[in-house]
Amino acid sequence: MNDFFEKSTVKFIASEVEMELLGAQIARATVKSCILYLDGPLGAGKTVLARGYIRELGFLGPVKSPTFTLVEPYNFNNLVLNHFDLYRLEDPCELEFMGIEDYFPPGANVIIEWARKGLGVLPIPDLYIALDYHPQKDAREISLVSGTDLGDEILLKMSGWQE
Ligand code: ADP
Ligand code: MG
Repeated sequence: MNDFFEKSTVKFIASEVEMELLGAQIARATVKSCILYLDGPLGAGKTVLARGYIRELGFLGPVKSPTFTLVEPYNFNNLVLNHFDLYRLEDPCELEFMGIEDYFPPGANVIIEWARKGLGVLPIPDLYIALDYHPQKDAREISLVSGTDLGDEILLKMSGWQE
């Protein structure tokens, strides 16, 4: 396995159910807390993936999209998890005004939809996940790229589970 393959991988996702499972798979591979960027057009499945991730960590309630509130904070099973959706962010500076660093305490899991809108202010991600439409109905193409040693570990674990 060459270095590049360890650090990035592309997946074909056939359905919403598979997308949720991918989120759960990432959660299981995440031994420590991690920072995930989710990037891709509206309706690509970012919130579906986030839901799979959050539920797998043990949150049983509804996972709503924080499009209007910018962030949805969760506290469960001794975990801190902050789910951002930056779609409505006009300028990355707004994140500084809201005290963005308070949402990244040590040990927190942070998922950021539309992370590209906060580039320059957000910390670098452990995993950068790009989602896009695929010509086949209800399918998506996902690429996962590691940004840190922890991200490498997560991808390595996930590739070990592949059929
Ligand atoms: P985003 O957060 O990227 O804007 P959402 O996750 O809110 O997108 O919505 C994705 C929509 O696309 C949902 O309505 C879901 O039912 C539908 N969908 C169809 N196929 C898929 C798929 N393969 N993965 C994820 N969502 C899918
Ligand atoms: Mg969304």
